Amino acid sequence: MKKLIFATHNQGKVKEMRALMADLGLEILSAEEAGVHEDPVEDGLTFAENALKKARFVAVKTGEWAVADDSGMMIDALDGRPGVHSARWAGEGAGDAGLVNHTLEQLRDVEESARGASFHSVVALVSPEGHEWTFEGVIEGHVVSTPRGTPRPKLADDVLFVPVGYDKTFAQMSDEQKNALSHRGQAFQKLKEHLAHL
Ligand code: IMP
Repeated sequence: MKKLIFATHNQGKVKEMRALMADLGLEILSAEEAGVHEDPVEDGLTFAENALKKARFVAVKTGEWAVADDSGMMIDALDGRPGVHSARWAGEGAGDAGLVNHTLEQLRDVEESARGASFHSVVALVSPEGHEWTFEGVIEGHVVSTPRGTPRPKLADDVLFVPVGYDKTFAQMSDEQKNALSHRGQAFQKLKEHLAHL
């Protein structure tokens, strides 16, 4: 493998994925750069199903290796919501600020001590021949009641999520700090170990 396409139009994810894969010496293109301007319908019930849908879609369109992340936050007090619906649970076109406000509104009556949550990522790899693999990352933490830090585009919940053992939100951490512990960082680490043995 010499070339890898990131099957996403989420600019925040593209930036993180590039940083996470930079040391592999591969040519890395976003879906946009590879000429894929549409997305498949994300109607899977799990992160894995949606990640595979996105990676398959781009692998088939380009004939190249493709990788996709499907991710989201699961809030304990909301029975795991928004989960796979994280990008859309405030309605289509709500924007990053709208998403943050919606999350805070849903948690209005939930005390700080009961705001446990986790971030999940499944990264799917699909080869041009249609072989498929998935890699998972999870990080536990809690949701704060006031947004903190500098948001990353399309990764709205960074301003709300504090990982266990830390007192900063993801948005108060550098890219390096976040990637070293995040759900996506963990899943990409597993992908990289797999690629090293291909
Ligand atoms: P997807 O593109 O369908 O996988 O949806 C991902 C959504 O989950 C994003 O739009 C965010 O709302 C949320 N999300 C996933 N990872 C992160 C993260 O690292 N920080 C903040 N929000 C995230």
